[in-house]
Amino acid sequence: MTQYQHLPPGGDIHASRLRLQYCAQENLLKHAISTELGGNGDRFQDLVNAHLKLGKHCLDSGLILSINAHLWGSIFPLILYGTDEQKQRWLPALLTGEKIGGHAITEPQTGSDVNAITTQAIQTDSGFVLNGHKRFITNTPIADVLLIYAKLDGKLSAFLIKRKDAGADFSDNPSVIGCSSATMGDILLKDCQIPVDRQLGKTGAGGMMIQNALELERAFIFAGIIGIMQWQLEQVIQFSRQRRTNGQHLGANQAISHKIADMKCRMESCLLWVNECARLKDSAKRISLASAQTKLFASEAFLQSSLDAIQILGAQGLMADNKLTTLVQDAMASRLFSGSSEIQKNIIAALLGTGTGFKAQVRNP
Ligand SMILES: Cc1cc2nc3c(=O)[nH]c(=O)nc-3n(C[C@H](O)[C@H](O)[C@H](O)COP(=O)(O)OP(=O)(O)OC[C@H]3O[C@@H](n4cnc5c(N)ncnc54)[C@H](O)[C@@H]3O)c2cc1C
Repeated sequence: MTQYQHLPPGGDIHASRLRLQYCAQENLLKHAISTELGGNGDRFQDLVNAHLKLGKHCLDSGLILSINAHLWGSIFPLILYGTDEQKQRWLPALLTGEKIGGHAITEPQTGSDVNAITTQAIQTDSGFVLNGHKRFITNTPIADVLLIYAKLDGKLSAFLIKRKDAGADFSDNPSVIGCSSATMGDILLKDCQIPVDRQLGKTGAGGMMIQNALELERAFIFAGIIGIMQWQLEQVIQFSRQRRTNGQHLGANQAISHKIADMKCRMESCLLWVNECARLKDSAKRISLASAQTKLFASEAFLQSSLDAIQILGAQGLMADNKLTTLVQDAMASRLFSGSSEIQKNIIAALLGTGTGFKAQVRNP
């Protein structure tokens, strides 16, 4: 029996919303947030431990992605950049899961290169008018509000757009195969009018806001996924003990047992990286380099271990209803969301004083 024993079953968009809300009721969204703001008043290490536990129970990378998009895409930007009035207005419902959020950076013509964002905001007497198109945005079909990045006077800025805003269309397509239980879709903004208090942060602060949000997402999104990797390892160990080949158990072959040893080392190394990010955050230190290294290492480790797990199970690993199969797709998605592996290498190189420049690379989604 675990804390998540009553997690509603997955299925459709409605189920995705219910599952996130159930986790919110378990106070999962309140870690590393002060009690004054409605949080648990605990540490990032507590957040890591809680996400790990959820991952191991739910085995659902999509739910983990959805929760992380909500946390780092909307809750933390509000905490870091919101006015007192904005925090009071938005945070309570986002922390309890009554309202669901996320962030929209990517567009059909630009993903890694956030400088190429074309969504435009124009200031009017009563607020702002936004026009543009966002794509591959996690939580769009279940979101009540999304933080949309757009250019205002040519400067990257952030705006809270509600599903119900006139001129905003939150759709449920296109989606991708990996992490598919995390709902995804396009947002079309056509003369979308919003009041002045929907701008979050200052005009031109959008680049820094994206950087901060993605650093947190890169640092902690694997906490839940490591829980899934622990389960994945248990599955292959069990299989290698039971499956017989040439009169002995499969794991007696060094080619197999070495793969399992590699999986163990990868999973534990991911955990060390995520814990290191928590340690840095809990001691108010920067995580720019550590979060990029964590994301790069963990997503590549997740993919390699997911491939190894299937290889060890043979054809059984590829059976249609085998959860291990979908983990390969989830791992491929993890090499793209929050910035691809190539972009993490660019960031790491730039922070080491080489490569193509910190400013140009560090903010990619
Ligand atoms: C499951 C999932 C969830 C997502 N959720 C969100 C979300 O909530 N919000 C959001 O805004 N976006 C989201 N995205 C989009 C994601 O951020 C982008 O897919 C990612 O930034 C890469 O952009 P792209 O797909 O347009 O690829 P591109 O930027 O077109 O890149 C294509 C390839 O070229 C490589 N590349 C590009 N530029 C460089 C460079 N300068 N140096 C080296 N290699 C480079 C990339 O690594 C990639 O391999 C999500 C994506 C996935 C798969």
